[in-house]
Amino acid sequence: MITAAFEYYRPASLDEALRLLGGRDDAKILAGGHSLIPMMKLRLAEPAALIDIAAIPDLGRIDFDGKRFRIGALVTHATLAANRDLEKNAPALWDAANHIGDPQVRNRGTIGGSASHGDPSADYPSVLLALGATLSLAGKSGSRDVGADAFFRGMFDTALAPGEILTTVSFDAAPASAYAKYQHPASGYAMVGVAANLRLNGGTVGEARIAVTGVGDSAFRAGNVEKALAGARAGDADAIKKACSNAASGVDARSDSQASGTYRAAMADVYAARAVSAAAARG
Ligand SMILES: Cc1cc2nc3c(=O)[nH]c(=O)nc-3n(C[C@H](O)[C@H](O)[C@H](O)COP(=O)(O)OP(=O)(O)OC[C@H]3O[C@@H](n4cnc5c(N)ncnc54)[C@H](O)[C@@H]3O)c2cc1C
Repeated sequence: MITAAFEYYRPASLDEALRLLGGRDDAKILAGGHSLIPMMKLRLAEPAALIDIAAIPDLGRIDFDGKRFRIGALVTHATLAANRDLEKNAPALWDAANHIGDPQVRNRGTIGGSASHGDPSADYPSVLLALGATLSLAGKSGSRDVGADAFFRGMFDTALAPGEILTTVSFDAAPASAYAKYQHPASGYAMVGVAANLRLNGGTVGEARIAVTGVGDSAFRAGNVEKALAGARAGDADAIKKACSNAASGVDARSDSQASGTYRAAMADVYAARAVSAAAARG
């Protein structure tokens, strides 16, 4: 399949990219191309111009000061999967990066591209919700920070306004965190994926942030599970299982050729318990 014709730009700075993007409504940012190019080949997207941000300095950096991560939008899944600081200090994101697609996808796809795309079965949205991440968006009139809870708005719908570019994703270290997914056997996308981020007080759960992807129109926080986990003993598998029931409560679970909504909702409970147990074991 061949894409429609398009113009191609490769700006050398963020300002130049914003100028090119802001001047027209028929242009799209190109990062790793592993979601956009397949859509263009299927003619589901026909942008008249692609603005390739690969040459913009600093968007490919990972900074960690011992407390907080700041990850550039162009950091690839493979780079995250190989990062030792992330493995130790925010293992939920490390887990997710290691299980995206296949080596080719991980070598080209970026965290910024995945977040901006807003795919309801993508792994990172649930992890960024569980980590309480902040997404920094640059526009012609300056930058603004948006919390993950407000960023992921619906199916392929995010808080990115026309003309804006996602530049960085930041979050505090979360050593007691994990991501567990039931992955599609061919693509690796999440049929169901759950991210857990716990604050442990001694042997009990003080606070929990739990988020689910693959089930609804967008990744979502499982508020009832978060509440039920507070005070649970971290090593008590039965208490964790009980607290993780009805993880998809209040969500219209999607049915398609791969799984019914009922099955997806049931698997959300199973994978929530797995993610929470794995996070507790790391804490
Ligand atoms: C075979 C295959 C298997 C896959 N398996 C998985 C999987 O298991 N789990 C998973 O989560 N994903 C999976 N993916 C998707 C993959 O992770 C993509 O890399 C990712 O979704 C998009 O990142 P990208 O850098 O390739 O973005 P692109 O494809 O370049 O862009 C995607 C969209 O985001 C916009 N965009 C990109 N960067 C920015 C930015 N910085 N600011 C604003 N807008 C931006 C683009 O304009 C476009 O609309 C798979 C893809 C393929 C082809």
